[in-house]
Amino acid sequence: MRGNMEKIILDNRYEIIDQVGIGGMAKVYKAKDRLLGRLVAIKILKEAYAEDDEFLKKFNNEAQSAARLNHVNIVNVYDIGEDMVNGRKLYYIVMEYVEGLTLKDLIEKEGSLSNHDIIDYSVQIAQALKSAHDSGIIHRDIKPQNILIDKYGLAKVTDFGIARVSSNATITYTSSILGTVHYISPEQAKGKIVDEKSDLYSLGAVMYEMAVGKVPFDADNSVGIAVMHIQDKPKSVKDLNEKVSDHLNRIIMKLLEKDPANRFSNASQLIEALEDQSFSLEDKKLEDTARIPIVVTQKREAKPKEDKEAVYISASDENDKKNTSKSSIRIWPLALLALLLVGIVYFFMTKSNDSRIEVPTVINLDQDMAVRELEKRGLKANISRTEESDQYDKGKVMKQDPESSIVVDLGTTVNLVVSAGREVPVPDLLGLDISQAEDALKEVGLTIGKTTTENSETYAKDLIIGQDPRVNTNLQTGSKVDIVISLGPEERIENTWVPNLIGTSEEDAYSLISQYKLSLRNVDYRESEEVEEGLVMDQSISQGTEVAEGSAIDLVISTGKKEEEKEEEVVKNVD
Ligand code: ATP
Ligand code: MG
Repeated sequence: MRGNMEKIILDNRYEIIDQVGIGGMAKVYKAKDRLLGRLVAIKILKEAYAEDDEFLKKFNNEAQSAARLNHVNIVNVYDIGEDMVNGRKLYYIVMEYVEGLTLKDLIEKEGSLSNHDIIDYSVQIAQALKSAHDSGIIHRDIKPQNILIDKYGLAKVTDFGIARVSSNATITYTSSILGTVHYISPEQAKGKIVDEKSDLYSLGAVMYEMAVGKVPFDADNSVGIAVMHIQDKPKSVKDLNEKVSDHLNRIIMKLLEKDPANRFSNASQLIEALEDQSFSLEDKKLEDTARIPIVVTQKREAKPKEDKEAVYISASDENDKKNTSKSSIRIWPLALLALLLVGIVYFFMTKSNDSRIEVPTVINLDQDMAVRELEKRGLKANISRTEESDQYDKGKVMKQDPESSIVVDLGTTVNLVVSAGREVPVPDLLGLDISQAEDALKEVGLTIGKTTTENSETYAKDLIIGQDPRVNTNLQTGSKVDIVISLGPEERIENTWVPNLIGTSEEDAYSLISQYKLSLRNVDYRESEEVEEGLVMDQSISQGTEVAEGSAIDLVISTGKKEEEKEEEVVKNVD
């Protein structure tokens, strides 16, 4: 399909106009459907895939199930077909042609999107997911490249279910899927069976990118990224872009939870949360103990002095200018009341010497953080000792006295016991896959560190072939173990040169053959007047020839002059 495309007509019906994009397994063309007189997009499988029968079968099945879907936010699949063009069989999918750009392009153009736009697109994408999930179809490859934005601002999701075809049962960490791996869920990265919540995670990663212009995790190899999805906590969206509303921040971080059970339970719930600006209420309970919620609008100058006091944003959509003035009028009395409250608390906490306070829990906080938390509340901190611990990472507070919730005078000293961690022997990871290695490490309190890849002749693809530190080294719990992952055997065939073997001893010839990565096929023994017994007198490929590694070579070895021949043979055979 390279070269110029004019006048290629598939199935006597679809007239290719020009190429509009290229992906991992296909090229996408704009085409005209002559029968119905409309523009369509045609996705033609790349040749490599068109030769794989197994792949084609699944490709057809998936395309057929995708064709069942019918939703304004899903790119419509019209038809699938195959045709011979210039002696080559082409397999293709005919889809709704979407004039516009991909969400990836849009993010790249804008840097990051406004809260309003993020919500708008996310709701549309979630609607598409809901419709597909209701029909039992999981997308598996939600990424901004698979979301098209048309000229009316409609988001349209494409490639439903196709990912399953290209990635088999377990994910393959090759460079060809690099780019996809930025949005995969932890369970997908582990090669586990995925459900609709996996799509929600991927949408979370897409929303993250819309919000801050960057994917949640990046590394220089896809395995590294996959591991980060499995075990790293993403930086908060809000920390990277303060314009992101608390409302969206909470939703995105919830979608990116490692445990599917902690995400929304389905797309409908996500849509509800996106459309409900007060969604944050549910989480407030967790952090409200020492804080006073104040309702103010985002651009109020009447900010409370204590930044630490929670500021919950009600009209968090900054684009919604009309609403801002209206709601701020409504909110003024509330804000004043709240300010007054802050004032009262502030008065009691600072001016009044005999006031008492509840000790907060600082268990499992880093030592420094714990000290700060206590001092912030007018308490003193004292690190009394360290203790070995399996349960708490090194440097974390493991005990406190007085315990939390006890009411004490301001200025009281809270004694802390800090974990010294514990040394554990590094387990043997060789031959395990990533998910097994993660489990093995987790069991002893370690995690996966840097990952690199290498070819390996002995270990199958995706298995671990190296680790640092090595097995049984003692490591502090919480430490990381770097791993090297097999890419499988090197694919390209190396060439080698045939050395001169003539005149060398039989033994030397054998070692040269293996040194030059050749293989030995036949050895003949022949008498010779000129060549001394035991030396090579002929080689089947002549010296200096370039051949593929592993090529077979035949040798002829001299048995010396005629007279002695018989006797020598006998001796040889006895040997
Ligand atoms: P992968 O093949 O790994 O999923 P991808 O999603 O980037 O990667 P394709 O799905 O082949 O690749 O799409 C390639 C490009 O073609 C898209 O990025 C988009 O620009 C364009 N494209 C895809 N479908 C349509 C469509 N229905 N209408 C218009 N353009 C499309
Ligand atoms: Mg695609």
